[in-house]
Amino acid sequence: MHEITRRLAEFWRDGRGAAGMVPLHAPAFRGNEAAYLQDCIQTGWVSSVGAYVDRFEAMLADITGAAHAVAVVNGTAALQVCLYLAGVRPGDEVVVPSLTFVATANAVSHCGATCRFVDVEERTLGLDPARLDDHLARHRDRPIRAVVAMHTFGQPADLDGLAEVCADHGIALVEDAAESLGSLYKGRHTGNHGLVSSLSFNGNKIVTTGGGGAILTNDPALGKLAKHLTTTAKVPHPYRFDHDAVGWNYRLPNLNAALGCAQLEVLAEHVTAKRRLAEDYHAVFAGLEGVRIFRETPEARSNYWLAALLLERPDRALVERVIEEAAAAGIQCRPIWTPMHHLPMYRHCPRDALPVTDAIADRLINLPSSPAAV
Ligand SMILES: *Cc1c(COP(=O)(O)O)cnc(C)c1O
Repeated sequence: MHEITRRLAEFWRDGRGAAGMVPLHAPAFRGNEAAYLQDCIQTGWVSSVGAYVDRFEAMLADITGAAHAVAVVNGTAALQVCLYLAGVRPGDEVVVPSLTFVATANAVSHCGATCRFVDVEERTLGLDPARLDDHLARHRDRPIRAVVAMHTFGQPADLDGLAEVCADHGIALVEDAAESLGSLYKGRHTGNHGLVSSLSFNGNKIVTTGGGGAILTNDPALGKLAKHLTTTAKVPHPYRFDHDAVGWNYRLPNLNAALGCAQLEVLAEHVTAKRRLAEDYHAVFAGLEGVRIFRETPEARSNYWLAALLLERPDRALVERVIEEAAAAGIQCRPIWTPMHHLPMYRHCPRDALPVTDAIADRLINLPSSPAAV
């Protein structure tokens, strides 16, 4: 057994006393989840309108500091609508990191737009502002309408740097904050720095609604439009069914919002548990040559959604060996996503050289990170 796997197994079995399978990430329901769900069933408010949807949106705005939060069916749909609100239309182009979950690129495709891939920084695992600036300067003739910053595993990207480059080039900054609810950049919540931002509440995220997402913005007109377009663009009226645009039925059901309200009540606990776990992992691997735990940058406070171990040098064989050894020991680890520019549907997208992305893909192992693992 490799020393990495040995230390990992010892930490979970002896350190934390885990008896059974240790999953990569399992949701934790220790609060008002059952009570709120019961309430939906008893009152009959289970579907597309209800008090929990309003409450969930108000809680999200309160937590993130965004003026407007609109709950939707999932994070992919949220990002698609964000891109639409940022002006992305069929035939346009959007800069995204290749180092991301496939939903980021899919949302661009769902708008009929094309991805352009720019490299990330090792420091943040997010888009590199210098490389972005260079890319935008070299492609001024292209219909690039937006740049999507993704906050990998909860670590905020260099938001000031990216915002400055986007402003210089007159291009909208959109945040895919699916992984970073509870993460701050210079004291301000992620999802609050771009024109519009998306969140996800999928089952494996820091808090879950079963499935769900949200759109955040500080622009009142965009907030209103986001709600209107995601609720079939119905013109408010006591009984008439009038619609003034081709809207989406992307409403988050009240049932899911009820689960979400209970989960947001314990978000701070989840963040605390994950930050403690990241510190524990740091101690476990301290002193082991060639390996370190990815840690937040000085300007950020990460939610450490998924803990990540980094090898000093790319070594795909070692990444897979550790994952397989850990699985045999009942501990679930994962490689980072296959970068988008290696996937068949995104292989031909315009892109820069992506040396950091490709290196990280063969250096990183995600470690078990459930919020219940205090
Ligand atoms: C989870 C995730 C999404 C999409 O969320 P869904 O709710 O699963 O559609 C988008 N982007 C990133 C980076 C994610 O991790």
